[in-house]
Amino acid sequence: SRGHAYRGRFAPSPTGPLHAGSMLAALGSWLLARQAGGEWLLRIEDIDPPREVAGAALDQLRTLQAFGLRHDGGIAFQRQRGHLYRAALEQLLARGLAFECHCSRAELAAAGGIHRGCVAHAPRPDPAIRLRVADGCEIAFEDAVHGQVVQRVDRDVGDFVLLRTDRLWAYQLAVVVDDADQGITDVVRGADLLDSTPRQILLQRALGLATPRYAHLPLLSGADGRKLSKSDAALPVDADDPLPALRMLWDCLGQAPLPAAAMRSSAALLDAAIAAFRLDRVPRAVPPPSAAVHNSP
Ligand code: GLU
Repeated sequence: SRGHAYRGRFAPSPTGPLHAGSMLAALGSWLLARQAGGEWLLRIEDIDPPREVAGAALDQLRTLQAFGLRHDGGIAFQRQRGHLYRAALEQLLARGLAFECHCSRAELAAAGGIHRGCVAHAPRPDPAIRLRVADGCEIAFEDAVHGQVVQRVDRDVGDFVLLRTDRLWAYQLAVVVDDADQGITDVVRGADLLDSTPRQILLQRALGLATPRYAHLPLLSGADGRKLSKSDAALPVDADDPLPALRMLWDCLGQAPLPAAAMRSSAALLDAAIAAFRLDRVPRAVPPPSAAVHNSP
């Protein structure tokens, strides 16, 4: 069903357990969807088998469930959606908007990793397919947290990969095809993807797809100020005891304190949070947690 007033999503890659940083994105995105009376879809982005960790998707689902972040409808698995990515790629190739790239790693490295057109080569057996990015291509969009974001895609990114030399789909293509196919109106995710968004908007335009609204939530950093990664043990979330983590995430989202009654259970907190959440309070960045918060069990 298309044209839903609000449809959000959470799209984890099954590369490990959900850490506090991913739960912050999940919570913010879920709260906005519930507040809008909309839907919140779950999509497992399992298009990169070499990076996948066995059992991670199931573990992520259990964590979301334990936190009370229920999704609507079935779960989409990118591994089963290759035909959609293929159709989009064929369309771009047929229209000359994408091309086979026979450049070697060394040639790309010599160009500073930014691909601008191919020089003549001996063909490779396994060419990557890239989107052609026009000279001077500038993409601007309005992010609900970061305000206006502008990127010169030709200079900062170059012609980017849609199908990798190892025959795996690139995240940029899969996410654009899926967000459109699933009728997503609002993409709410971590700020680590802020600089991917112009590429995704460019792809939406090339494919004639609508551009959703975007909100990029702050990343959590470890106590030493590093960005959290999925492999980071810092700030793990405890699925058996979600309330302390929910309280911490609510604070990290810059929200006003909830009434004491909301602190009695995670269900009570979420109910109060749906009503109270204010996107305009969300900060662009969160300072490293204090030792007290960081060490809380
Ligand atoms: N799968 C991506 C990740 O886990 C997120 C994709 C998205 O939200 O657009 O980092």
